[in-house]
Parts: sequence; structure tokens; C-alpha cells
Amino acid sequence: MTAPAGPASWRMPELPPGRLLDVVRTPDPVLGMRGHTVDPAAADVVALAADLLATQAVSPGCVGLAAQQVGVARRVFSVDVTGHPKTRTCHGLFVLCNAEVESASRRERGREGCMSVPDFTGDVARARRLTVRGQLPLTGEWVTLETDAFEAVAVQHEVDHTMGLLFLDRVAGPHAVHPRRTYL
Ligand SMILES: [Zn+2]
Repeated sequence: MTAPAGPASWRMPELPPGRLLDVVRTPDPVLGMRGHTVDPAAADVVALAADLLATQAVSPGCVGLAAQQVGVARRVFSVDVTGHPKTRTCHGLFVLCNAEVESASRRERGREGCMSVPDFTGDVARARRLTVRGQLPLTGEWVTLETDAFEAVAVQHEVDHTMGLLFLDRVAGPHAVHPRRTYL
């Protein structure tokens, strides 16, 4: 059985085909840049959203990708946790612009990785229940995403990227960083 559809009252608009972009890695300074707020309906933002989806789709194990990771300091990211064993609520493949966390539960520690930090994983405390507000690309519609478990963690990781933060900025110390052997 495939992952159930999320309890969303909105639908991700269909975007034009995107291009495959190179994923930048630390210590590229763009990863530390706070993203600019975007106009989700602007042609270049729609193209960026499509590029994130296309690039994520060909990256094995990639559950999210932020604009900073393709070299652009903007508040845009994609997420798709479909089929991941730790996923409960699942909204499928989506892009959010100008996303902000509205509420978050008590945090629990878990291991996470990042395509921009290929050699390490880290233990990061993240909320397991989360409400995020953001705008859909193309239509600009404001939507509220209520999620939990692995999708909640992925969304927090991507919101962090759009603020110029990596998981390495969230770990408790060097003891919480581990050499990476395999992609998650
Ligand atoms: Zn990342």
C-alpha cells in the first residue's frame, strides 16, 4: 500500500518541467545566507520551484531540497517523504514559499543528514508535530500544513535552510556529529 494522502485541503499546482541543478555543498557561503521573501507567482520563482522538484526527484534518498542548496538565497523549498519508513502524515511532493512555523510540539532528538553535508550526519532535536504556513508556487495561495513524524522533521530542516541554517548549526556539539556511511 502506498502512503495515504495527507489531510490537506489544498493541492500542489502542476508546474512546468524543471531543470536538473547541481547541489551545492558546505562550505559554500550561500548555505549560510538568509533567504529573501519571494513572490510565489513570479516566473523565476515558479521556475526555481520546478527546478527543485526536478533535482530532488533524481537524487536518491533526498526528502527535501531548499533554494540555498541550488545556490539561491530565497525562501523556497521542496519536500517529499512519500514511502519513507518513518513517515506518518504525508502530503506527497510539494513546494512551499515564504514558509513559517506557526506551532511546534516538544522536540525529540533524531539522526539527520543533508545532501549539502555529504560526509556527516547529526543528532538534532526537532518537533514531531508541526504547523507551518506558506504559499504555493504559481498560485501564491496561503496554505497551512499540519504534519508529524518524519515529514515534520523534513519541513523543519528545509525551513532552516531557507534561513541559512544547516543541521550542523542545530547539533548539541561535536559529539552529536557522525561520519556518514550511507545515504538515509
Ligand atoms: Zn539539507
